[in-house]
Amino acid sequence: MAIKSSKKTDDNTKERVISPKESELDTLNEVKLRPKLLVDYIGQDSIKKHLDIAIKSANIRWEPLEHILLYWPPGLGKTTLSLIISNEMWVNLKHTSWPAIEKQADIISILTGISEWDILFIDEIHRLKPQIEEILYGAMEDYTIDIMVGSGTGATSIKMDIPKFTLVGATTKLSSLSSPLRDRFWNIFKLDFYNRDELGKIVRRSLNILWCEIKNNEVGDIVAKKSRWTPRIVNRFVKIVRDYQTVGHDVESISGIEKIFDWLGIDSLGLDYLDRKILETLNSFWLKPIWLNTLSSIVWEEEDTIEDVIEPFLLKIWFIERTGRWRVITDAGKSHIETTVYNFK
Ligand code: ADP
Repeated sequence: MAIKSSKKTDDNTKERVISPKESELDTLNEVKLRPKLLVDYIGQDSIKKHLDIAIKSANIRWEPLEHILLYWPPGLGKTTLSLIISNEMWVNLKHTSWPAIEKQADIISILTGISEWDILFIDEIHRLKPQIEEILYGAMEDYTIDIMVGSGTGATSIKMDIPKFTLVGATTKLSSLSSPLRDRFWNIFKLDFYNRDELGKIVRRSLNILWCEIKNNEVGDIVAKKSRWTPRIVNRFVKIVRDYQTVGHDVESISGIEKIFDWLGIDSLGLDYLDRKILETLNSFWLKPIWLNTLSSIVWEEEDTIEDVIEPFLLKIWFIERTGRWRVITDAGKSHIETTVYNFK
């Protein structure tokens, strides 16, 4: 698979094989792979435990679940959790995102169109406009919305009841969420990156679902190791391995698997050309922190994409440090970039 050269657009990042963001690469088999119930959802144990109790309690009290906010980088399972919550509560899930809620009329139509106890999932909720948030405040607090009738000096506001629902908000940027909106969520859960054991389980689960049998367990370990601790990337790799196996490529030996990753341009830790470009740029400024906007213009990538999609993993493996808008490479990052031998161009 060819890796496209970097271009300063958000879409460019979506096309990276190791991008944690959802892309066209994921649509096929997505429905099959997504866990449907809490028991199928691997890892995030404390969130699962808390949710399990909250769901059981809501069902016993015969009330809707309290509003929930899920945050942290893409690909860790926020959308999946909203689906699971709706399945466990036996209610409908309405999935939407900020571009679909441009005007107040959009959110009013959604809120008046849902049924009692339904789950409304809003992805990237921090990007909602203030006038949309204002409608959500009342909706979340006492299940009412204020609708303006008439215009000019004759305009009046009418309070209208809406079905008792649960808002599940997802964000990659908790700090960008306004505090009045944040305060209206009963539960705020930070999802964590997955450990090697959990990733291994996700690899095996996905291989099973896709009817891809691999006898060599080390192959699964390599896939897990390169997946940046992110289930979405695990699943993408599993699908790629399945495709190579289907056309007769060797996926049972370490060298056969490593060859696939070389062709994909992915190194031993799951870093690709864009991570390396960022690390090489920071390394060229060794010991001198550089501004995010300087970095963005050098690597020709959006600041938001660097901050929300690329940096969380580089920070987690301690290859970079960031303070406000300053960025600096660590000794570990420097050592990786200077010592890793790449078998690809
Ligand atoms: P997010 O909404 O955080 O971007 P998703 O919920 O869309 O992430 O998850 C991406 C994919 O990863 C899903 O399709 C799902 O198949 C898989 N996935 C996520 N979390 C888990 C998990 N805990 N166990 C198994 N698979 C998971």
